[in-house]
Amino acid sequence: MLGLMQNHPLLISSLIDFAARYHGDTEVVSRRVEGDIHRYTWLDVQRRAKRVANGLDALGLQASDRVGTLAWNGYRHLELYFGVSGSGRVLHTVNPRLLPEQIAWIVNHAEDRVMCFDMSFLPIVQGIHTHCPSVKHWIALCDEDKLPADTGIPHLLSYEAWIGGQPDQYPWPVFDENTASSMCYTSGTTGHPKAALYSHRSTVLHAYASALPDVMGLSARDAALPVVPMFHVNAWGLPYSAAMVGAKLVFPGPAMDGKSLYELMEAEGVTFAAGVPTIWQMLLGHTAGNKLRFSTLTRTVIGGSACPPAMIATFRDDYGIDVLHAWGMTEMSPLGTLCTLKEKHRHLPEQEKMKIRLKQGRPIFGVDMKIVDDHGEDLQWDGKTYGDLYVKGPWILDQYFKGEGGDPLVDGWFPTGDVATIDADGFMQITDRSKDVIKSGGEWISSIDIENIAMAHPAVAMAACIGMPHPKWDERPIVAVVLKPGAAASRDELLGFYEGKVAKWQLPDDVVFVDAIPIGATGKMLKTRLREQLKDYKLPTV
Ligand code: AMP
Repeated sequence: MLGLMQNHPLLISSLIDFAARYHGDTEVVSRRVEGDIHRYTWLDVQRRAKRVANGLDALGLQASDRVGTLAWNGYRHLELYFGVSGSGRVLHTVNPRLLPEQIAWIVNHAEDRVMCFDMSFLPIVQGIHTHCPSVKHWIALCDEDKLPADTGIPHLLSYEAWIGGQPDQYPWPVFDENTASSMCYTSGTTGHPKAALYSHRSTVLHAYASALPDVMGLSARDAALPVVPMFHVNAWGLPYSAAMVGAKLVFPGPAMDGKSLYELMEAEGVTFAAGVPTIWQMLLGHTAGNKLRFSTLTRTVIGGSACPPAMIATFRDDYGIDVLHAWGMTEMSPLGTLCTLKEKHRHLPEQEKMKIRLKQGRPIFGVDMKIVDDHGEDLQWDGKTYGDLYVKGPWILDQYFKGEGGDPLVDGWFPTGDVATIDADGFMQITDRSKDVIKSGGEWISSIDIENIAMAHPAVAMAACIGMPHPKWDERPIVAVVLKPGAAASRDELLGFYEGKVAKWQLPDDVVFVDAIPIGATGKMLKTRLREQLKDYKLPTV
């Protein structure tokens, strides 16, 4: 017997209609590429998203045609989120920090028909447009009068002229909720990147789950600042979840330095922010250096790579701000776990609570996980045993776009490539990427643990731990360290700092001082590049 309830498909268009109808006067504020602040409301977003939908019809785009973006976090990008997917096309957010040839490869692979780009990326587009035959329309996200006279790009349109002539009424089509809505290519550290293709259903379910109190706890009383880029897994779904709850949205545009972010947060009453650790490092550097306080910010979601304990402590102890440590991946839309304590933890001493907060957290309803050994056998959840982390759920990838890489699943589970422990309460902790884990004498050493200890030293700005080949132990860990400006610490002092904090055999063999740690296009450390840089390095002989 079937239930007797209405069967409405879960569509992205319903999110923007809801936000416009019930939170129509709530603001969406953007720092623009032009440098000024743009301010309007959710009702305006809906109207202009409908103009986008009409504009795509006028360009002759069919259902499921891909519309690419090369854009910062801002209101025009937001309009494309709803106008493209809402009208049944697929939004393809491209990471502009990739190399131009990688961008061209991705655009061709996705077969984008239209490419919308911020003027900051005009040089990229000028370099690649002749190599992207599928793109029939290049659209610059600016006013008509900001378009330079001769860009060399044939038929270049300005976004404002394109949508300006379109009506702001559009009957959103109703279709199967499993229809593709947006796509994002993985970082692709080996071989070509592969794309996760999200559906309307997976996106709306992810938005529901991510707004829950133990997840991001988003509400109509929040002003949310997604610093995590809209070109990286849909800014962790915040454009959708903010529309779902009617939160104010604040976009930083290209200005992600500590000063600009701080000023925007204060001016717009930001209560909630989300981003990768490197961004917060810059923000905290600015606030500490200028003795500033946050007057409205209460919590910040930090993920994308492990959040150093020192950062959680600084936010909590110095500023009274809760850090919500989150873990996920492109293939997971992206949210998998988030770290919030349970009632049973309320009376634990602060030090014990901190140990839990460092973990990547508990799964969100909709995500199931397990850790397995090399034979695929389940491992125990004791918080110590580590193994390969597998996940499944309705917003987790089933196959890559165009079936690239074959069937990625193992008995219905997606292998994340992360190595983790899970404790008896279901809190997961990432110890490494499987390819970054250091294998010494048959034992595994967590590079994250080694990095976190270095990062707690007052002179250290950034640390990356990698394994170096060793004749007896296979591999031994070393730490590459960037010192804070003006700070000093010797190799021996830093090695001494590890004593008593890890087992003797886990102590790094060496500290190497570097000017910078290579950072990839999504803000994560590029250990492959670091290994290349240190290819002539030799471990000290004891
Ligand atoms: P991406 O698909 O580019 O978002 O990368 C996903 C990968 O980033 C995960 O598989 C993890 O290796 C890493 N990652 C994401 N969040 C965290 C976190 N909180 N702690 C440690 N690693 C993380």
